[in-house]
Amino acid sequence: MASPPATRVELRELGNTGLRISSVGFGASPLGNVFGPVSEDEAIATVREAFRMGINFFDTSPYYGGTLSEKMLGKALKAVGKPRNEYFVSTKCGRYIEGFDFSAERVTRSIDESLERLQLEYVDILQCHDIEFGSLDQIVNETIPALLKLKESGKIRFIGITGLPLEIFTYVLDRVPLGSVDVILSYCHYGINDTALEDILPYLKGKGVGIISASPLAMGLLTERGPPDWHPASAELKSACQEAAVFCKRKGKNISKLALQYSLSNKTISSVLVGMNSVRQVEENAAAALELETGGIDQETLSEVEAILKPVKNQTWPSGIRQT
Ligand code: NAD
Repeated sequence: MASPPATRVELRELGNTGLRISSVGFGASPLGNVFGPVSEDEAIATVREAFRMGINFFDTSPYYGGTLSEKMLGKALKAVGKPRNEYFVSTKCGRYIEGFDFSAERVTRSIDESLERLQLEYVDILQCHDIEFGSLDQIVNETIPALLKLKESGKIRFIGITGLPLEIFTYVLDRVPLGSVDVILSYCHYGINDTALEDILPYLKGKGVGIISASPLAMGLLTERGPPDWHPASAELKSACQEAAVFCKRKGKNISKLALQYSLSNKTISSVLVGMNSVRQVEENAAAALELETGGIDQETLSEVEAILKPVKNQTWPSGIRQT
């Protein structure tokens, strides 16, 4: 007898952490009004719907909306009232609206501030946020050791690093003791227009780290609405993505659904973090994941979109400071 269709998004192992997190992760940066205003009621309803669809992984940062994302997520988690062991929260340290500071003193203070805003006693993952803007040697020699102490204190369970250029991950992981960094979060490098992350997946797997890939919609590039004003992509990349979105729409297809399904197809990636700020987006994204599990991806439209995006394939933008 055929098994009944799945109604909740699948769970995947996160590296060696033992956590089983949802393949679709809830990116909470939009709850900091990063992509337009979101009310408290909307935030709560969005998080409630995420739980209903089996999403158990929530990612935020003190940087998103200048601490607003953490506060909104904290309020929403409290309002929904799920037992704490049924979901996983990741926040970050080192990047703030005031600037970057990866010193041991700042990141140690940062977790207390984050826990207060999130109304939690611990977070599952604390990640050094966009480390290419700091000294990578400081991350290795000062920040990670400080986070290891936070792990001992029970305020955090696992340690991660995030950023855009992929070399930052190999630089740090080559220099820290094996097992001290549990997770990496890469963004905008595993989507239809950019698959550069693929090259280092075997290396990351070899190191036993959990792999999280964020921004499957390339921070709004692969949406019908298009990217926000602050988006750092070149005009050429923006216009190619817009052309792909219009092409899909004319064909009666949705570019965001295709883009999310594409990122979810690679199961070496434990969770694909997509930013969500409405019940409708949660429904659409969860439905896209469920449909992928049962019916696979629309290969014809994918090939057509890949052809449109070929001239800009793997085109990215500069991020961070020159490392000496
Ligand atoms: P994204 O690619 O997920 O795009 C988000 C945008 O797409 C928002 O405008 C959202 O409202 C919209 N959207 C979501 N679902 C949609 C749908 N079904 N149809 C149409 N539009 C839809 O980009 P993101 O939000 O930047 O990334 C996801 C999350 O990953 C962030 O919220 C954050 O938690 C994390 N992230 C982390 C880093 C880092 O650590 N350096 C960087 C980028 C993202």
